[in-house]
Amino acid sequence: MLWLALGPFHAMENQVLVIRIKIPNSGAVDWTVHSGPQLLFRDVLDVIGQVLPEATTTAFEYEDEDGDRITVRSDEEMKAMLSYYYSTVMEQQVNGQLIEPLQIFPRACKPPGERNIHGLKVNTRAGPSQHDSPVVSDSRPSNSLKKSSAELRKILANGQMNEQDIRYRDTLGHGNGGTVYKAYHVPSGKILAVKVILLDITLELQKQIMSELEILYKCDSSYIIGFYGAFFVENRISICTEFMDGGSLDVYRKIPEHVLGRIAIAVVKGLTYLWSLKILHRDVKPSNMLVNTRGQVKLCDFGVSTQLVNSIAKTYVGTNAYMAPERISGEQYGIHSDVWSLGISFMELALGRFPYPQIQKNQGSLMPLQLLQCIVDEDSPVLPVGEFSEPFVHFITQCMRKQPKERPAPEDLMGHPFIMQFNDGNATVVSMWVCRALEERRSQQGPP
Ligand code: ATP
Ligand code: MG
Repeated sequence: MLWLALGPFHAMENQVLVIRIKIPNSGAVDWTVHSGPQLLFRDVLDVIGQVLPEATTTAFEYEDEDGDRITVRSDEEMKAMLSYYYSTVMEQQVNGQLIEPLQIFPRACKPPGERNIHGLKVNTRAGPSQHDSPVVSDSRPSNSLKKSSAELRKILANGQMNEQDIRYRDTLGHGNGGTVYKAYHVPSGKILAVKVILLDITLELQKQIMSELEILYKCDSSYIIGFYGAFFVENRISICTEFMDGGSLDVYRKIPEHVLGRIAIAVVKGLTYLWSLKILHRDVKPSNMLVNTRGQVKLCDFGVSTQLVNSIAKTYVGTNAYMAPERISGEQYGIHSDVWSLGISFMELALGRFPYPQIQKNQGSLMPLQLLQCIVDEDSPVLPVGEFSEPFVHFITQCMRKQPKERPAPEDLMGHPFIMQFNDGNATVVSMWVCRALEERRSQQGPP
């Protein structure tokens, strides 16, 4: 047969591929893909993410001829699956049988809850436009699987972002100022992260905060968390942002240098972007660096609203362990202070522990001022040279110079050899690392 000589991929190149995404306890969604052989693992995860927006899927499975489940976690494994599938299709064709769709089973997915997406059909194309949003071919518009960010922004800008449209789901974490929830935005079908902060303040101050937050709509960088809107209800403010399925970096253990380098370049780009808008972050730390399974790294919780920062500070007193020495001493704060926090954060992520052994960060990063006095009084810690590359050690040492002016300026950060070497736009390294870490965490927690 011709296809044997050319391989099943060539023979099937022009065929439409139907992938049936099986939803645990709830049926399936058919996804039509043109030019399937060019399909990437990431594309499949993206579509699964749209079908099951509330679950974080890092892998999926298919069944071989014996009914054994085989896991797919990479482009290589995708190729093997497609190759196996195309050979079964050829067999079905030769025997005059009906062609079965390729069935895949998303791994560790939660049931989609109240969403009824049984039997929904999605069409998308692989190849050059493979990153297009899938087109929903179902006749029920209320079931749209995904709205683009631009569309979502439009909905939200029209004032449709309000408490009634939000269904709060899991708690993602508690900070010093509030609680972050994973939430479902009903009109857009989008999963959000909503930070709720209790604030007993006057209506006047509420208005001031809302107008100060306006600048967030203008922030447009792939290294900054997407902002969808904020609203006050009684004595609490809800701030709605893009949900990052990998969470924040503080919960990851020691991060290998080649992964950290790729995270660092994103963080430096994010900070440089904020500084270019004359915004100081003021709270650079691992819990404010978020990652997702696409390998994106984004900054959150930067201080755009002075009034919000002040109002939170009045309620929650303490000093942040990532603050630069000059800030602990009550001196002026500038870009250089953000650079210190960048340095100490990356040192912690590299070591897997806070760099000052005498400072025990038990819960959160706030602590009494006197406990942080050693940051002001002592020499800065240095990464062990044998364990980390010279450029990395140099980068951290420069960022953590005690004298603010001796720390690298924004352009020096970007031009630093440690940062430059990872400036290749490769998101796969972070993506794979996040996926693996999430899977490990899940297997330790047991079945959902
Ligand atoms: P602080 O209040 O001092 O900033 P924090 O950053 O730990 O401390 P929060 O900002 O309230 O606290 O965030 C709590 C947790 O919620 C974070 O540690 C992070 O894991 C999670 N989180 C925050 N924003 C998002 C998001 N957009 N997507 C996913 N998880 C998030
Ligand atoms: Mg935070």
